[in-house]
Amino acid sequence: MDLLNTLVDKGLRRELPTREEALAVLATPDDQLLDVVAAAGKVRRQWFGRRVKLNYLVNLKSGLCPEDCSYCSQRLGSKAEILKYTWLKPEEASKAAAAGVAGGAKRVCLVASGRGPTDRDVDRVSKTIEAIKEENEGIEVCACLGLLSEGQADRLRTAGADAYNHNLNTSEGTYGEITTTHTYADRVDTVHQAQAAGLSACSGLIAGMGESDADLVDVVFSLRELDPDSVPVNFLIPFEGTPLAKEWNLTPQRCLRILAMVRFVCPDVEVRLAGGREVHLRSMQPLALNLVNSIFLGDYLTSEGQAGQADLDMIADAGFEVEGAGTTTLPRHRADAVAGCGSHAGGCVTESEGCGSHEGGCGPCGEAPEAEAVPAAEAPETQVPGARTDLVAVRRRGAGTDLAPNA
Ligand code: SF4
Repeated sequence: MDLLNTLVDKGLRRELPTREEALAVLATPDDQLLDVVAAAGKVRRQWFGRRVKLNYLVNLKSGLCPEDCSYCSQRLGSKAEILKYTWLKPEEASKAAAAGVAGGAKRVCLVASGRGPTDRDVDRVSKTIEAIKEENEGIEVCACLGLLSEGQADRLRTAGADAYNHNLNTSEGTYGEITTTHTYADRVDTVHQAQAAGLSACSGLIAGMGESDADLVDVVFSLRELDPDSVPVNFLIPFEGTPLAKEWNLTPQRCLRILAMVRFVCPDVEVRLAGGREVHLRSMQPLALNLVNSIFLGDYLTSEGQAGQADLDMIADAGFEVEGAGTTTLPRHRADAVAGCGSHAGGCVTESEGCGSHEGGCGPCGEAPEAEAVPAAEAPETQVPGARTDLVAVRRRGAGTDLAPNA
């Protein structure tokens, strides 16, 4: 297939495909899906071999957010029955992080709900980063606290953060339909602030929110331009009690095509399979390892993933290997570029269901304005055949509970 040969050649040369080529990947029929996976897999192996980086999420503060991101179970007015708690103490966060590290994670992603951190929040997170670094030698820490204010990225960097996550989520053209309390430009600005402070930038997207193929290509091309070191790809987890609860429009095949398109457009970047993989890819998850070189281990921010051991078994059974702590994730040319500007390697978080994906820190001390009722579904209902609404499991263990974390 000429298209795939062209895309492989471009990916091996780190050359940007055309928009038409990216759109054509999304339009390939199911009977050519394995050809698409094999082609994107060649690009993946060129830059990352058969390594899979494991990342571990610690939700430092859950729910109670004053922002209105439609996809998010932690948004203002969300009726999703998620865990809600304010800031974990540094020792609590460190204990949760240690579980992920023991399970094989080389990066810990510290996430807090909300619009953005106060300076006091940055103090708290700085203490948490220090505690985690002290107890887990060589571990990478990524912070995901929302929109940053002047000087906050520098302070996080000084505290030892390696990376900062802030997703674009969707195209600039449709951003206003998903969120009204902040703008696409706000998000781009925060990623730039992180990069300027020498933090490794992590920024990705959420697919499955009713966007068009053109929107998906737009956001992925914008990410390529933004040039983060890692790109998390989330698949919407349509939580009951959120405006997008009825938006079940992803099939495993569509998810694989989206991941392949991201790999072709961002060939040498850490592409991370993030929230929604169990719900939407289901038994096709192992195939996705041919496209991404990074996943989250265990649970997400507000939802439960498959057992951590099942993640490890899946990687081994599919013929991949967990990336060791002493291995540099990024290809040499990118890692050197990052080191040259005083930052580290890496990328970071996110998921679609909660905040991580997103953006933001919090309102003061976890207080949110009075919640207004959210209609069951503000968006038109869509449900593809085979949708597994029963697979959405609210997180009831790990951070914020007395139960052991899944790692
Ligand atoms: S994605 Fe982040 S900022 Fe948006 S509603 Fe959720 S927690 Fe708040």
